[in-house]
Amino acid sequence: MRTPVYYSTTQDYDGAAFKSALHKVLEGVFKEYGSLEGKKVLLKPNLLFSRRPDDPAAVHPAVIEAVCRELLDAGAKSVTLLENPGTQHVKAVIKIMALEEKLEQLGVVYDDFTDYRELKLPEECRFRQLKLAREFENFDLVVDLAKAKTHAMMTLTLAVKNLFGLIDSADRLSWHLAVGSDFRRFADLLLDLYLTVKPGISIIDGIVGMEGNGPGSGTPVTSGFLAASTDALALDASVANLLGVPESELVLLQQAARRKLPFAYENHGELPEVSPYKRPDPPGLLNAWGVWLPPLFKKQLRNLAGSRPVLISSGCISCGRCVQVCPPQSLKLKKVKGRDLPVFDLDNCIRCYCCQEHCPRGTIEVRPQILNKLLSTFVKLFRR
Ligand code: SF4
Ligand code: SF4
Repeated sequence: MRTPVYYSTTQDYDGAAFKSALHKVLEGVFKEYGSLEGKKVLLKPNLLFSRRPDDPAAVHPAVIEAVCRELLDAGAKSVTLLENPGTQHVKAVIKIMALEEKLEQLGVVYDDFTDYRELKLPEECRFRQLKLAREFENFDLVVDLAKAKTHAMMTLTLAVKNLFGLIDSADRLSWHLAVGSDFRRFADLLLDLYLTVKPGISIIDGIVGMEGNGPGSGTPVTSGFLAASTDALALDASVANLLGVPESELVLLQQAARRKLPFAYENHGELPEVSPYKRPDPPGLLNAWGVWLPPLFKKQLRNLAGSRPVLISSGCISCGRCVQVCPPQSLKLKKVKGRDLPVFDLDNCIRCYCCQEHCPRGTIEVRPQILNKLLSTFVKLFRR
């Protein structure tokens, strides 16, 4: 089965042509989704950061306002905008975008994600548990509002990558470090977020996208389109093709294919002609997410950041269950002080926490590391 992806075209964010283009694209996807009547909607826009009202690093404010209006006009009971911009608060971004009054008039509440807690992931996920913003569970519908941009690590950041915003800022660095330069693991994390959060409607703002050195400092490029679908992965596959990145060259879709996650699509509406996006330089081994780090420092950082599994050896019965379930075989039973105990190879550990989940004695714990605690404090202190 092919999921419909709806397109419309417009060259800027002003006037009747823009409103009509947005209405057309949402009309299609709303029909596909079903009734919005009485639904509590969570809108998750990409607000990476905003240095000026129309910063191409973020979804354009006109799109945010118009999407809120369309959702309410279609019968939604309420729209709540939540996001976690890396270095700013949502309220600061909304102020820079001059959206405060407009959203207040529409009755749209906006704020940061704050309720970060561990969540056990669905069976089809590769990771067993994730600490993520649990607010999404309180809504009837999640609307994923992304921007068409290039990305140093994943080539493009579209609707599925936008869900990475549900991970706490301090933990995002840890995740980058934990997956190292194995981008397939990072793609697995994004796919797990997609399978867990299940956005019912996904929209991409490609009127002005970003090519080259994205996702924050690339070159704005007028691509003149809006696209939407009920399936974020199908939407990404369609838009990636449009931007000149075939499915076979996008790690996210390669990994989705390996996991047999469907993303076949059929395009509807008015398709723009878009010149292929200039891609970012592919990150090398020392440049895993666009930042150069000496290998030794990177290795140490990786083990100091984020959380990691820790054995409480007194409770261990040496059953070896944790060793059997560890996907990259980062655990081995070794003789320690006369006992067979699991020993972690943390350089190879992908932090999936299968060992912790499957231990029958609950004797493996997940503990945040010192750098992660420092980063959390730093983000709290210096976020504007
Ligand atoms: S040691 Fe535990 S957390 Fe690390 S990869 Fe193996 S199962 Fe996953
Ligand atoms: S599963 Fe638990 S009890 Fe069994 S060897 Fe691993 S840590 Fe020890």
